[in-house]
Amino acid sequence: MAKQQDFAEKVKKAGLEKGIKCKVCGGQKISTLFINSIKSGAGSYRFNRVQIQVCKCNEKSVYV
Ligand SMILES: [Zn+2]
Repeated sequence: MAKQQDFAEKVKKAGLEKGIKCKVCGGQKISTLFINSIKSGAGSYRFNRVQIQVCKCNEKSVYV
């Protein structure tokens, strides 16, 4: 979906402008919104949005 991609690019840019570097891998950390689905009761899910910093250390666990 084009709209979602635009959003992802904007988030990526916002993270790059902040210029946070990871102490572990030395890469640029990208601030991104991670949406967690939480099971709340029988068959219903809640969505929890969390702001996270993504770099090479954890990108694989975020962008599956
Ligand atoms: Zn890192």
